[in-house]
Amino acid sequence: MESIKVFELAKKLNISTKSVVNILRDEGLTIENQNSEVDLEVSKRIEEILSNPDLIETKFSSRVLGLEDYEKIKRSAELKAKQKKVSKTQDKKDTEDKDISIKTQERPSRPEEKKLMELTVPAGITVKELAEKIGKPVSQVIKTLITLGEMITMNEVLSELSISVLGEEFGYKIDVVSSEQEIVVAQVDDNESMLEKKPPVVTIMGHVDHGKTSLLDAIRKTNIIEKEAGGITQHIGAYQVMVGEKKITFIDTPGHEAFTQMRARGAKVTDIAVIVIAANEGVMPQTIEAINHAKAAGVQIIFAINKIDLPDADIDRVKRMLGDLGYTPEEWGGQAIMVEISAKKGTNLDELLEMILLVAEIQDLKSNTHVSASGVVIESRLEKGAGPIATVLIRKGTLNLADSVVAGTTSGKLRLMLSDTGKRIKSATSAQPVELVGLNALPNAGDDFFVVKSEKEARQIANERSLKVRQAAMSQVRHLTLDDIATMAKEGQKVEMRVELKADVNGSIEAITESLMKIAEAENADIKIIHYGVGSISESDVMLASASDAVIIGFNVRPNPSAKKMALLEGVDIRIYTVIYDLYEDIKAAIKGMLKPEFEMVDVGTAEVRQTYKVSKLGIVAGCYVSEGEVRRNLNVRVIRNGKIIHDGKISSLHRFKDDVKSVSQGFECGIMIENYQDINVGDIMEFYTLQEKKR
Ligand code: GDP
Repeated sequence: MESIKVFELAKKLNISTKSVVNILRDEGLTIENQNSEVDLEVSKRIEEILSNPDLIETKFSSRVLGLEDYEKIKRSAELKAKQKKVSKTQDKKDTEDKDISIKTQERPSRPEEKKLMELTVPAGITVKELAEKIGKPVSQVIKTLITLGEMITMNEVLSELSISVLGEEFGYKIDVVSSEQEIVVAQVDDNESMLEKKPPVVTIMGHVDHGKTSLLDAIRKTNIIEKEAGGITQHIGAYQVMVGEKKITFIDTPGHEAFTQMRARGAKVTDIAVIVIAANEGVMPQTIEAINHAKAAGVQIIFAINKIDLPDADIDRVKRMLGDLGYTPEEWGGQAIMVEISAKKGTNLDELLEMILLVAEIQDLKSNTHVSASGVVIESRLEKGAGPIATVLIRKGTLNLADSVVAGTTSGKLRLMLSDTGKRIKSATSAQPVELVGLNALPNAGDDFFVVKSEKEARQIANERSLKVRQAAMSQVRHLTLDDIATMAKEGQKVEMRVELKADVNGSIEAITESLMKIAEAENADIKIIHYGVGSISESDVMLASASDAVIIGFNVRPNPSAKKMALLEGVDIRIYTVIYDLYEDIKAAIKGMLKPEFEMVDVGTAEVRQTYKVSKLGIVAGCYVSEGEVRRNLNVRVIRNGKIIHDGKISSLHRFKDDVKSVSQGFECGIMIENYQDINVGDIMEFYTLQEKKR
């Protein structure tokens, strides 16, 4: 389809780029900058609207167009309308004459053509820097920005759109070049001859209380490379140990959050995952979660069967449980690596370390130390006197004191570099964790970090990135949804769907998995269940879905409030079902590209059941306290017991004291009966909702 660029359309319409962008955005189009393309159809429609004085008034205000453009357009449209009338009454006049009349009519509204000077600026330029480039006082630039509706201070970064609009105002045609392009150039290919062995990076995961922290502490205590004089080593988020001649790097934050958080940001830090399982408890829900996280990230797993010193330790049982999950130990003919340890007694820790080195040896981990450094931020903190301090793990290259670095959206020159034992160092290399002092702000865990040529370049890249983050926050990130899948299917693309499944009981998981596999086979689609489990949908589930671009399906379970918020933020699609048939039909429809309009549940209120009483002939009435929102007679209701949905239906009656009422608000008590449902207990929660068709 033919298209026209935004700035070209602006020229054609003889109004500012900013106004055109506003009009298009008002029409629901996503317009990034003056170079965005617009369909000719759309452009024609806009032109039509703008040539009709009545439409302009009803459709746009001076807010959308800017006062100047608004008046200009109205004047020109009125002129054109008048001229149309004139030309109708002058039908007999010859065409040549008409042409002239149009030209002369249009002229007055067009300002004298300005010749624009050309200018190139780096993306991420601040107000002050741009003012210097165009030789105008900062105050004048800021004033202009304010009249354009942008409140911004002199050290803030300008968006590309603002730059082009400002350019127009001050007589420049400004070209914005991205400095990120230079990074790509800087990342040279690794020549095989430059690669050297690097220590493995290990993350420890597992169920709560199975001994992750104890294991990290035990390893650190006995193997740390250099002990500090005072004997107190600080935790900086990662540490290295020496085993014989070889090093191993441990990420010193036990648990899955750190792991997924980094993965969600696209950082692959971990080479090996040690999954700790207490021998007396065996495989637990978070063990499975850890396995799935490691599997999804394609990371080699070593199982550490811990607490073997306990009298009720049952190592064989743990191995059987792992076998059931597809991880059969080597001595039973499988390939899973397992080490039996006691973190508390220090038993077999050497064997575990040896095993890590062996696995690393097989993985043949290498990196190039001859290039400028890059890596990942592990954690960061603010320290009095020193300012922002970031722990980074170098993945490649050599980092030197006084290097200029970018870390996420922060930048700086390295004033000080400390090893994991707090020693001042001048350089560091692959898999080494170091603390950096000199950044201008705190980067986030999982952010990438890399060295660039100059401090100025670092600042520009960081500025540009923070601008992008701000813009992305405004246009919200999104992950693959069922709707997207339906669209893909409709377009004839092969459907690949990743699913995270949470349900009330194991039986449901089995049944749903079976149906999904059936659909996959019948429709020749690729459906992967990347994780499943019993229980409500947690933040960790949303993180995993976000990192793996998966859709979360909840069966008879709900997301907890923080997970709900996070899903919204991360743009993760959560689908809740209470009937397997509905789930089956939805997924099938999506994969066939025929998803019906989705109805969105809109929460209206919540109530707690404080009492129940039986009314003869009618049944059970629940005496409720409305704790949130309100309840109305025509609403749908979910009954929740211990975090699980035990019933989903409709309210059949609502009353206060003896009276039937239409609604009851928060803070009041009421009696509720549910259609064809009697099993209500004191302590149950009722959630009231309506169904609204969701906009695609
Ligand atoms: P985490 O939640 O996985 O980090 O577990 P912790 O390391 O905090 O350990 C939980 C509890 O198990 C603590 O009371 C530890 O002392 C204990 N523990 C850890 N490892 C062992 C072990 O090998 N043997 C015994 N008997 N107890 C252990």
